[in-house]
Amino acid sequence: TTTYTRDYWESALSSLKLEGRLFIEGDYRPAQSGETFTRPRPMDGKPGVALARGVGVDIDAAVASARAAFESGVWRKKEPLEKKKIMLRWAELIRAHAEELAMLETLDVGKPVLASLNVDVRLCADGIQYYGEMIDKQYDEVAPTGPNARALVRKVPLGVIGVITPWNYPMIIDAWKLGPAIAAGNSVVLKPAEQSSLSALRLAALAVEAGLPAGVFNVVTGYGEEAGKPLALHMDVDMIAFTGSTEVGKLIMGYAAQSNVKRVALELGGKSPIVVFEDADLDAAASAAAWGCFYNAGETCHASTRLLVQRSVQEKLIAKIEAVTASDIALAHPFEPSSQIGALIDEAHMEKVLGMIAAGETEGAKRVFGAERVLSETGGFYISPGVFIDMTNDMSLARQEIFGPVLAVIPFDTEEEALRLANDTIYGLAGAVFTKDMDRAHRVSEAIHAGTVWINTYDMANFSTPFGGFKQSGFGRDRSVHAIDKYCDYKTIWQQFG
Ligand code: NAD
Repeated sequence: TTTYTRDYWESALSSLKLEGRLFIEGDYRPAQSGETFTRPRPMDGKPGVALARGVGVDIDAAVASARAAFESGVWRKKEPLEKKKIMLRWAELIRAHAEELAMLETLDVGKPVLASLNVDVRLCADGIQYYGEMIDKQYDEVAPTGPNARALVRKVPLGVIGVITPWNYPMIIDAWKLGPAIAAGNSVVLKPAEQSSLSALRLAALAVEAGLPAGVFNVVTGYGEEAGKPLALHMDVDMIAFTGSTEVGKLIMGYAAQSNVKRVALELGGKSPIVVFEDADLDAAASAAAWGCFYNAGETCHASTRLLVQRSVQEKLIAKIEAVTASDIALAHPFEPSSQIGALIDEAHMEKVLGMIAAGETEGAKRVFGAERVLSETGGFYISPGVFIDMTNDMSLARQEIFGPVLAVIPFDTEEEALRLANDTIYGLAGAVFTKDMDRAHRVSEAIHAGTVWINTYDMANFSTPFGGFKQSGFGRDRSVHAIDKYCDYKTIWQQFG
């Protein structure tokens, strides 16, 4: 932090080379129409970088390039050791360009640049490395048959994977999908969120620099309807790996059905509960509830947005959450070294979050602190972390995914009631339980219907654990060795002897 002052980032920004063209067949090119689009930067509202406005014809070109690379075998048929080396080199190049990539992520998303550097860029490089290392450690199977036959069960890549991503953790989510898809031998066309495309464009160039053959990884920037939809409807795309809203996830399933029955994997929204019993370590619970909900300005799919607390400790816990938020979670311009949370993604989203807060108050939710627009003088889009009480689980603040720093607190009296409330949601992405009673921790963690449940912590993870949801939080898992399975299929080769 002594190096990484605000002045340091401001001066680095002025010399940053920004690329807004599409990346197809191993190189940058404009959209075929020549059209571009820009959007204000979340941190200060100043105009952002002009990006190529990709549409159907650009998607066609990228898919053709990806298909040609796949069919030629230029990547998929390479020696596993060679493929691994290329992916490890790619991970190293990401690390070597960490500051530049962190700045791109912060320009797009408005998150603190030190978080981009220490979390997003690091996890992206780690993810590419993790899947690179898997490449020469995968075996196929020989099925049990009679003595006169040998049946190979081969795990084969699907072909061309369309990847469509959201704007909240662009580089991390890219690595979660590109890593296993490319390691499995597929080619990829990535359509990043229109709000956050810069890091993806740079990642693609670094991949080629590392030795990934042209066409294996293409990026088409543009809007969801204009570029994402033609990708999901494309007849020559074998799968869409999507992270985003449940609403758009449902459309993606429809596009797959309307076109070529391509596979889909969906990582969607959440409204994750954190259940705190009266015997819990309340300091730990307060810290987890605050960070779990407010990190990344609340723009996290598995944010702990519903705090279910045993009535006897509600007041004490809220006081601790307020203290932690005030002392540890500094809201500031993303270039300030002290900044723990920064801006929301754009003005429209900020207005939507403020509208949800106002609607919640109309329904009777009572604000304890925060949840207001702040730092408006910067021109950026900031909302302070806030807590609401006097709530029931059927109020809108407890049901809708807000995607802003808003914590809804709902009291309960019994374990049974806590579980009923925890599972009373259309989502099933994550959850947590805080208690010193390990029998109860076991019962509750098993009973919360979510893809990840933490005990006495929140948001701890590494690449070894699968991530994804139940119910309308989607299906398919990112991370871990299992993530590679969804980018492959089994092929049987039966050989008869004698
Ligand atoms: P979004 O669904 O609006 O957009 C996601 C992506 O889909 C973007 O690239 C967008 O351009 C594209 N898109 C939009 N309309 C499309 C269409 N008709 N056809 C094809 N593509 C289309 O989501 P968002 O606002 O970018 O991100 C926030 C959402 O993402 C939240 O709901 C959040 O919970 C979810 N999310 C989930 C996870 C997870 O792992 N489960 C992680 C991060 C974010």
